[in-house]
Amino acid sequence: MSEKLKSTQVAVIGGGPGGYPAAFLAADLGLGVTLVDPEANPGGVCLYRGCIPSKALLHAAKVITEAQQASNWGIKFNEPEIDIDKLRDWKDSVVNKFTNGLGQLSKYRKIKYIQGRAKFVDNKKLKIQNQGGEELLSFENAIIATGSRPAELTNLTFDSSNILNSTSGLELPEVPKTMLIVGGGYIGLELGNVYAALGTKVSVVETTSGLMPGVDRDLVLVLSKRLKTIFEEIMLNTTVIDMKEEKSGIRVNFEGADINSDKQLFDKVLISVGRKPNSENLGLENTDVEIDKWGFIKVDEQKRTSNPNIFAIGDVAGEPMLAHKATHEGRVAAEVIAGHNVAFEPRAIPAVVFTDPEIAWCGLTETQAKKENQQVKIARFPWGASSRASTLDRNDGVTKLVVDPETEQILGVGIVGSGAGELIAEGVLAIEMGANVTDVRLSIHPHPTLSETIMESAEAFLGLSTHIYRSKKRTAEKR
Ligand code: FAD
Ligand code: NAD
Repeated sequence: MSEKLKSTQVAVIGGGPGGYPAAFLAADLGLGVTLVDPEANPGGVCLYRGCIPSKALLHAAKVITEAQQASNWGIKFNEPEIDIDKLRDWKDSVVNKFTNGLGQLSKYRKIKYIQGRAKFVDNKKLKIQNQGGEELLSFENAIIATGSRPAELTNLTFDSSNILNSTSGLELPEVPKTMLIVGGGYIGLELGNVYAALGTKVSVVETTSGLMPGVDRDLVLVLSKRLKTIFEEIMLNTTVIDMKEEKSGIRVNFEGADINSDKQLFDKVLISVGRKPNSENLGLENTDVEIDKWGFIKVDEQKRTSNPNIFAIGDVAGEPMLAHKATHEGRVAAEVIAGHNVAFEPRAIPAVVFTDPEIAWCGLTETQAKKENQQVKIARFPWGASSRASTLDRNDGVTKLVVDPETEQILGVGIVGSGAGELIAEGVLAIEMGANVTDVRLSIHPHPTLSETIMESAEAFLGLSTHIYRSKKRTAEKR
């Protein structure tokens, strides 16, 4: 074991979408940076086993679904032949292209990249375990960006190639005949979408009364309707109480309101019941850094922990656990270290569930407004009235605005429908710029596009919609 003391101005621990942008920006701002991550290149969960591989597979799923749907328009394709090895290789090539690219970008910036795991020795030093042994690194500032890992079903899971989590599910080991997905949130529904399109009979079990708990019910309703047609079964208010390995799969025992049979056999079971912050095994007990009761590192709006020279960003620093939130926090931390007077103060963080159809929202939701007793008015534009949606044969969508009743300022936007994830950025910009419904109504949107549904929602709010008829009084429901 060699323990030489090296030093750096900024040590970034974790090379995900929080850590690598923080490291890159800090280097661009003239600071000496060391980036530590166990992988050969930066990328983190998002690139290696999250956002990117899942979206590549969701794209493949979309192509399959659209080809099937084309029979409605007189175009019939044969049943798809799925070469699982080639699909896996393609997905992996997308990941490799990006992670290799990030490795290059890191080198161009003269960032010292260490493939290893870091642990705090004290408030000023890290011990890094790498392939060659251990090294000590002293830092002026450190940014903790260690992300999160899948939560487990305590006392229920065991080691089996038939029990998957998001990481092993994305490795696409095979296309099983049947799969149970435990947890009807982001991962369960996205991966369920993928496997169902590939031909697996997918069942979902969700412990709460609806899929995607916390998201506005009118948006989830549109998705649920479609998922009922592609999934074998959706069991709500239900949970798993026992699992056993049998010769032909996993025997699952359920308890709850929505079950046909309390015991069923599945080829594979995918557990997607949330994620936990990676704040353990980091040596935080040797520092002044504090964590909350859920294990998230406590930070202020500049992403500073309880120690002024140690910052924390991304999944390890709290919800929402989303890549773009991690990136923005990382950029704030890098700028603060460089001496800029900035803070992380977004009015709207967008969220997208990349199912078919997609759900996207930003800013204040109707659910949140109700919970907080905040008066809002809601405007909805159903995609049945969108000519663009009709040309795509995808009228299953809704765009809605959450509006301040006094100022008519847009506080939130929610969209469900094909491509909702691409549309939501306009909502983010509107909220960040403090736009009101008239600003959006008067902004000319290209025709025919789904983006018009945002403008038409604003028109509907004002009782001025061309494509739906509703009086102003009926449209702007008072909440
Ligand atoms: P991570 O990406 O988790 O990166 C942390 C890195 O730190 C990892 O490489 C880890 O190995 C490393 N690390 C941990 N401990 C140490 C240590 N001691 N020393 C050195 N390195 C360490 N978000 C979206 O916004 N859009 C999506 O479409 C999306 N899809 C997802 C799909 C799936 C299947 C999953 C699982 C997640 C998805 N997410 C998505 C969430 C997104 O991946 C995370 O929010 C994001 O990766 C968080 O970034 P991060 O930088 O905080 O941490
Ligand atoms: P999640 O929090 O989105 O969903 C977990 C679901 O599991 C919830 O609906 C919960 O009620 C349910 N659940 C919990 N325990 C259960 C049990 N015992 N039985 C049945 N259901 C149970 O978590 P996830 O899907 O694991 O994803 C984790 C996080 O990763 C997300 O919250 C999100 O931040 C991030 N993510 C984002 C994207 C995206 O941006 N498109 C995609 C994937 C993951």
